[in-house]
Amino acid sequence: MINSTQIIRHASLVTRHASPNIQNHNLMSLLDLFFPRICYGCKKPLYVHEYLLCDYCRFNLPVTNFHNTQNNEVEQIFYGRVYVEKATSFIFFKKHSSTQSLLHYLKYKGKSELAVYLGKIAGKELKLFYSDIDLIIPVPLHPKKLKLRGYNQSEMISKGLSRELQKPISTNNLIKKEHTETQTRKNKYSRYLNIKDKFDVINHIDIENKHVLIVDDVLTTGATLESCISELLKYNVKVSVFTLGFAK
Ligand SMILES: [Zn+2]
Repeated sequence: MINSTQIIRHASLVTRHASPNIQNHNLMSLLDLFFPRICYGCKKPLYVHEYLLCDYCRFNLPVTNFHNTQNNEVEQIFYGRVYVEKATSFIFFKKHSSTQSLLHYLKYKGKSELAVYLGKIAGKELKLFYSDIDLIIPVPLHPKKLKLRGYNQSEMISKGLSRELQKPISTNNLIKKEHTETQTRKNKYSRYLNIKDKFDVINHIDIENKHVLIVDDVLTTGATLESCISELLKYNVKVSVFTLGFAK
């Protein structure tokens, strides 16, 4: 039975005399033949030059372009609840669509590299919009949940954003102090009660007088973000919001 190590060894023998780029390309082609990589949007096999998303899905992401509109739909969600400087979501999240597939892979199927990649794509688009922020803070997971999932998807999205925006990330200052039940099957008010006062700032000196960008994966009712933001606002900070998906 042939395995991936044997294939890689064979491919490097075959391509030993080619230039490093051609070697990599040949190796990828051979690996794709035996272990086809799929697009996490449409699940079709990827071509050698494609990474995580096929060209079609990459260039047809259902972007919201909310950042081009003042008082956009994301900002409106927080009206009368908490004050945010500016807010946007990158793509529309629709059930039974390629965006649902993307979010599912990056959140539940361990594809943290997809979260980083999408964060980078968003960061490229939003460089100007978020040019005045000082610090990125991902919505934290409770340590129990983090252990279970292995990574925090919002932190991975933040990593990609951080690379493009050239702003630092803080992952250990805002913490989730209590494990809460999943929000997915709750209505708006129950979500609010379930998550209210569940976050703490550990070291307020590090955030005081700063403009913080809080990052989450998908925006639905905004209850989790509201809870994080009201905690941050206790310390004389300005808060803006980014979410990768916007649930319709
Ligand atoms: Zn695709």
